[in-house]
Amino acid sequence: MYREYASYIKEKFGTRVQKIALNPGLGCPNRDGTIGTGGCTYCNNLTFSPFYGQASKPIAQQMDEGIAFFAKKYKCQKYIAYFQSYTNTYADTAKLKTLYDSALQRDDVVGLTVATRPDCVDNQTLELLAHYSQKYYTVLEIGVESCYDATLRMINRGHTFA
Ligand code: SF4
Repeated sequence: MYREYASYIKEKFGTRVQKIALNPGLGCPNRDGTIGTGGCTYCNNLTFSPFYGQASKPIAQQMDEGIAFFAKKYKCQKYIAYFQSYTNTYADTAKLKTLYDSALQRDDVVGLTVATRPDCVDNQTLELLAHYSQKYYTVLEIGVESCYDATLRMINRGHTFA
């Protein structure tokens, strides 16, 4: 049976929950030369970054502006801080904690979703996320993209399936 994510979330929280897409400006090792340059062939963060989720703004401000935008459209909802743009575990643990904490200050924020590359998640980051999972609905969104190394090479992914 296919279970739709939106209905799972509504059942879990008893209300609609809106993701607020954030850009902490951490960049990506597949763009800055650490792993590669040019990025994955399909990657264009501008196509999905909302007006409020700009790296030039502090994370708390991105959350406030994103919530103000969606609060006008939908009533009585909760929010998930969604670190979406680029590689959101690409920093030391102290910096990540500061960013994630900034996004979780409001009482109406019930979750944390962190999108990243599979080769940018170390044990310290997992421990940090485990810490948040004690209080928040916490999701690590890993862009595996393909199980075929030939495809991963073709899209300039910078890692193999292994
Ligand atoms: S790893 Fe992610 S952010 Fe980096 S280039 Fe690929 S899709 Fe874009």
